[in-house]
Amino acid sequence: MMLVTENKKILLHVCCAPCATACVEMLLANDRDVSLYFSNSNINSKIEFEKRLSYVEKIAGIFDAGLEIDIYRHDDWLEHVRGLENEAEKGLRCVKCFDWSLRRTAQKAAEAGIENFATSLTVSPHKNSRVIFEAGNQHPGFEAWDFKKENGFRRSRELSDKFDLYRQNFCGCEFSIR
Ligand code: SF4
Repeated sequence: MMLVTENKKILLHVCCAPCATACVEMLLANDRDVSLYFSNSNINSKIEFEKRLSYVEKIAGIFDAGLEIDIYRHDDWLEHVRGLENEAEKGLRCVKCFDWSLRRTAQKAAEAGIENFATSLTVSPHKNSRVIFEAGNQHPGFEAWDFKKENGFRRSRELSDKFDLYRQNFCGCEFSIR
């Protein structure tokens, strides 16, 4: 999968280290200059946020990629999805969740002078890439990388094992634990 662009720099929103591995590998294989952005106020607790972040720091080191970290604002995120707590995964709460993270990533890319951004969210078979693209396309510079293509998810599992990464068993918010 290759998206043709003149601009090599790209800011990759990373939801967690395991998902990010295959995405970073694919972007590097396409000669992109990748920086990571950990923006995940959806995560249910600061402890879980810090745990996932520590493994993202590990892969930033492995791939020699820059890393920026967003502030953790879970209370504000809860307000953002209020009324959608009982939605099933892949439902409307997730649409709002993608909207939150991709908006933050678009803002960070603009601040950093990086014209293009993408998200590791599309590597997961539990996530609908089309819905993620709709959220991303609200912002200039979004690149619609569907990282689950070309066995991206399988590759993310291989690399997670290789690098001994923490692989969480729930998506992130407290409503995904049930
Ligand atoms: S299940 Fe995952 S994508 Fe959906 S709202 Fe919760 S954290 Fe966000």
